[in-house]
Amino acid sequence: REIKSELIEKAIAQFQTEGNVKSYGRYGNGHINDTFAVVFKEDVKEKRYILQRINHSIFKDPEKLMFNITQVTSFLKEEVKKLGGDEFREVVTVISTRNGNSFYSDSEGSFWRMYLFIEDASCFEQVDKPEDFYQSAVAFGRFQKLLSAFDASGLYEVIPDFHNTPLRYERFLQVVKEDKCNRAKEVKDEIEFFIKRKEDMECCKNYLDEGKLPLRVTHNDTKLNNVMIDNKTGKGLCVIDLDTVMPGLSLFDFGDSIRFGANTAAEDEKDLSKVSLDLDLFEQYVKGYLTGCEGSLTDTEISMLPHGAKTMTLECGMRFLTDYLEGDVYFRIHREEHNLDRCHTQMALVLDMEQKWNEMNEIVAKYR
Ligand code: ATP
Ligand code: MG
Ligand code: MG
Repeated sequence: REIKSELIEKAIAQFQTEGNVKSYGRYGNGHINDTFAVVFKEDVKEKRYILQRINHSIFKDPEKLMFNITQVTSFLKEEVKKLGGDEFREVVTVISTRNGNSFYSDSEGSFWRMYLFIEDASCFEQVDKPEDFYQSAVAFGRFQKLLSAFDASGLYEVIPDFHNTPLRYERFLQVVKEDKCNRAKEVKDEIEFFIKRKEDMECCKNYLDEGKLPLRVTHNDTKLNNVMIDNKTGKGLCVIDLDTVMPGLSLFDFGDSIRFGANTAAEDEKDLSKVSLDLDLFEQYVKGYLTGCEGSLTDTEISMLPHGAKTMTLECGMRFLTDYLEGDVYFRIHREEHNLDRCHTQMALVLDMEQKWNEMNEIVAKYR
């Protein structure tokens, strides 16, 4: 994605920064937005910023997205200050444009934003040691805790019905019925698998509707590389990449982290004997998340953590199967039956969770 330097420089000039631009260049390993690091020089002092061009084809309404981000980061900053922390390192800082906006839209219809660069911290691409996974759990738990008094209902649903599992289930049934690609007959067992677990899939959302689970701010992209780890202390410092911040359930963030982070195999592994829930990683995440949440979760939320993991895995597997039945129109595939392979790993992970259900609950009970 080549972007003309004039466009980048014009964008940089819109934001409230001091000094002169010394250099800029592509930065990081993000897959969604175009990210640049910009170095400013004022006398001898240098200061870095992150400039991002928002992926407009994924995020249709950048204005709403930026509203969510400014609301959430302002609130977080107040909370961090109360606790005597450093709001500029522990929370993403949105730099306003010179006319006081949180983003700039250029002549080509692209949207740009700028953040303060969080220095002396790193993002890791993959879990090399369980400690990293633990630290990301602490960071996301802390994020949840700091936002526990924030009214999430005031946020936009950037992706409407993202984890509305019952709605996704309805759509799944419809797609099975339509069977556009005539593939349903090959995947009868898979279809049955999800139908059999309908109640499991609907439980979280029903509890929310019945007021048994609280509406929370959710991050929705709780990957390891969306947490900055402090270079000196090795501790989770700041949650970044707030594009998908939305109202939802804490169980969604927790569950999705387990689904992709505690699986012993890749999401598209063909050898299903390699797929399992790593109970050590599960324990690390539970311990870290509950440490970070520091008593801000309700008893129901805590006791349903294993359920969150199972629901997210079921939902994801069902989405892969839905896409397979529709002819691979949503998830990009790199081989034939790629979506079916992905569906199979999620099913295998669910089966393993069912096997380990007691252990999962015992681990949660240990740290509650
Ligand atoms: P993803 O593929 O995870 O959705 P993305 O395209 O949305 O990524 P970000 O995660 O926001 O992009 O940023 C990409 C990378 O840039 C981060 O992984 C991190 O290394 C770096 N980065 C982002 N924001 C900051 C910041 N405020 N300070 C320092 N580095 C940052
Ligand atoms: Mg990211
Ligand atoms: Mg992102």
